[in-house]
Amino acid sequence: MAQTAKKDEGILLVVSGPSGAGKGTICNAIREKFPDLQYSVSMTTRDPRKGEVEGESYFFRTNEQFEKLIEEDAFLEYAKVYDHYYGTPKKRALDMISDGKSVLLEIDIQGAMQVKKRYPKGVFIYIVPPSLEILSDRLYGRGTDSEETIQKRLAQITSELAMAHQYDYIIVNDKLEDAVRKTSSILEAERCKLSRNEGQIETIFKQYINKEVPLK
Ligand code: ADP
Ligand code: 5GP
Repeated sequence: MAQTAKKDEGILLVVSGPSGAGKGTICNAIREKFPDLQYSVSMTTRDPRKGEVEGESYFFRTNEQFEKLIEEDAFLEYAKVYDHYYGTPKKRALDMISDGKSVLLEIDIQGAMQVKKRYPKGVFIYIVPPSLEILSDRLYGRGTDSEETIQKRLAQITSELAMAHQYDYIIVNDKLEDAVRKTSSILEAERCKLSRNEGQIETIFKQYINKEVPLK
């Protein structure tokens, strides 16, 4: 019986960093550039913002619903970020990866560190703006958070920067187009790693060795 080549797993690409770093902006550009990249829709207990759509932006749930899912081990990671729960539904993300699809997670630093423990084969990218002043300007400029929330987020920056050393890559998000290009390059390079392509190599190399196509 002919043996079929082993199916290569997809890549779990984790884009993380402090609030206001530019994770969402960079991920949106990456999703446009790589339509085959699957976006993992997170679950949260925060209220929807204007224009956010259930099941597209987030799955919006109550505290009780979220805590029940924690008990059921339904999350690849979850964290309390600025008073609300956020989590990555585990089954969908892991099923897609074993089906060979690459999955993008845009999550906070606590969550990324949990993913690293549970799925060390992931690719971990830390995004940071070039200075505290620019980060602060961007948080205020985004206009989505109150003064109190922004101050809370800025107060965490020192401990969040310390975590950067646990990541595989760092991108200083100065000019957006450069940050997007660098993120794309990381994904492309990771996709070419030998260790991620053993099934494909087996299939291609087999027909070289078996000379399945008549040589001219
Ligand atoms: P995060 O998702 O990490 O919290 P966002 O993607 O929402 O951050 O970015 C925060 C703000 O900074 C947004 O208003 C966004 O438009 C802006 N921004 C992101 N990257 C850049 C950049 N390279 N140059 C200028 N503004 C940026
Ligand atoms: P926001 O409320 O602004 O949409 O998101 C707040 C923070 O939560 C951001 O830093 C965002 O990256 C993070 N976040 C979004 N989804 C998840 C998730 O599933 N898990 C974790 N740990 N963080 C998340």
